[in-house]
Amino acid sequence: MGGAYSSLLALDLIKAAPVHPFDLHKGTEGKKVIILGAGLAGMTAAYELNKLGYECTILEARDRVGGRCWSIRGGSTNIETEHGAHTAAFDKGLYFNAGPSRIPHHHELSMHYCKEFGVQLEVYNNINEAAYYFSEGNGPLSGKKIRKREIHNDVRGYMTELLAKAIDQGQIQMAMTKDDVEKIVHYLEAEGGLDRDKLYKASARRGYKVPPGVYEGEYSEAYPLMDILSSGLMEPDFYNVAEYTYELQMTMFQAVGGMDMIAKALGERVKPAVNLGAEVSSIKNTDTGVKVVYKTAAGEKEIEGDMCICTIPLPVLSYIDHNFSGTVTRAIDYATYNKTGKIGLQFKRRFWEEDERIYGGITHTNNELTQIFYPSNEYQSNKGVLIGYYNFGDKAERVGELSYAEREKLALEKGAMIHPQYNNEFENSFSVTWHKTKYNMGGWAEYNSQTRESIYKVLLEPEKNVYFAGEHMTYLNAWMAGAFESARSVVAEIHTRVSGQNFKYPKTTG
Ligand SMILES: Cc1cc2nc3c(=O)[nH]c(=O)nc-3n(C[C@H](O)[C@H](O)[C@H](O)COP(=O)(O)OP(=O)(O)OC[C@H]3O[C@@H](n4cnc5c(N)ncnc54)[C@H](O)[C@@H]3O)c2cc1C
Repeated sequence: MGGAYSSLLALDLIKAAPVHPFDLHKGTEGKKVIILGAGLAGMTAAYELNKLGYECTILEARDRVGGRCWSIRGGSTNIETEHGAHTAAFDKGLYFNAGPSRIPHHHELSMHYCKEFGVQLEVYNNINEAAYYFSEGNGPLSGKKIRKREIHNDVRGYMTELLAKAIDQGQIQMAMTKDDVEKIVHYLEAEGGLDRDKLYKASARRGYKVPPGVYEGEYSEAYPLMDILSSGLMEPDFYNVAEYTYELQMTMFQAVGGMDMIAKALGERVKPAVNLGAEVSSIKNTDTGVKVVYKTAAGEKEIEGDMCICTIPLPVLSYIDHNFSGTVTRAIDYATYNKTGKIGLQFKRRFWEEDERIYGGITHTNNELTQIFYPSNEYQSNKGVLIGYYNFGDKAERVGELSYAEREKLALEKGAMIHPQYNNEFENSFSVTWHKTKYNMGGWAEYNSQTRESIYKVLLEPEKNVYFAGEHMTYLNAWMAGAFESARSVVAEIHTRVSGQNFKYPKTTG
């Protein structure tokens, strides 16, 4: 797909992803904007403000741009609180995405900027029925790796069987004509793969024990419903999220060569404005603008500007000196971010493809691994890095407490229960715990209806000359589109204020 999307766009054969109107006009030269953080939000803000004639300075604490938009290659280093720095030893050409790994087709701004920066995209295979469910615990099916297509079709079959029988026997109280009943029952038969007696039996849908060739082939047998239920395979860890969750539905994309190609392309476009190794320690509104103090290898420095866009994640901002109001201070201090971690495992051989015919997609477990992501690129090549766990919440917290070596051990032990090939093919690993990662201290912002009011709405308004942006300033939390959207929103606000141009960017689109 890589070149295909951009080629089709270039040839005008498909329309560029539409975005909210953003027709700001140049008109105010030389206003100085200090941008805190060179993640996607900060750099997008600078990129768009530069077009309008503003003078931007970006202060970035790390020695690289991109923030969470980061792909791990040989030589990549991360610093975690308690565990210190560690460095990846992946072979040249191998990588995994520690942060964003997939772009939904409807994230118009992510698609828009990839096009504008010439970042090549390829399909990210988020849905793979050949990947596994693995339930650790009780029940006759636990401890076994089971292809998703088997559980999906068995559960769908049994559920539709129950419903079809109940409807047919008039046990569901609904105003329906005989004709309606017949139509619904026919639909359920088709949906669940039921036979004429409305019974679910295994068919080709769930795969074969003996695949067909010059002979007919033999279907695999359905698992009894009670075995599936008692083995935990109908519990939330195994819900069919990929097809049913808006953001996870195909088509999904990834940047060719690593998702941070997006950050790098953006970084090139704002390069003169970026100051790396500049850790902000104080942000103060003044009578005429903003004063920011930051630490560099050469000592402490100070910069003044007319306005400031702060994209520093809130758990980090909470420890930075400022003179914001009590309400804004409370909003920053009480923000909650999720806990999440990933580990990349390099293997000598792509056994998941060679031995098990898994090309991309995700295996789900109910243990600490939560998910194993198989790479959606370089199929049938020699080596590969797969994401050995991608976990959240309590599981991420427990695993994040472990040392780097202990995390590797856990990923290998638990992973080998599914893929015994781990024992012979493993080469090296690199793990990132986002809630322990310096300059982030969390995966992404999490809100409920109450904190949308007490935190989010408060920070949507500028604090005098300081504007807040980043994924946390949208309803697109955990998505790059949120960073892009929030950047455009504050650029529009600043430009409206400075130029008097009458323009309102639609806020908080979901
Ligand atoms: C595990 C994970 C998986 C994800 N998966 C996806 C996905 O599949 N698809 C998708 O679209 N999105 C995904 N996301 C979300 C996406 O990565 C973010 O929404 C986006 O990158 C956030 O950009 P940002 O600019 O708001 O924040 P950041 O990228 O965090 O940028 C903030 C910047 O501020 C800097 N900073 C911090 N403190 C200071 C300081 N004191 N002084 C100066 N600079 C400082 C940081 O170093 C950083 O560069 C994922 C994120 C994570 C963590």
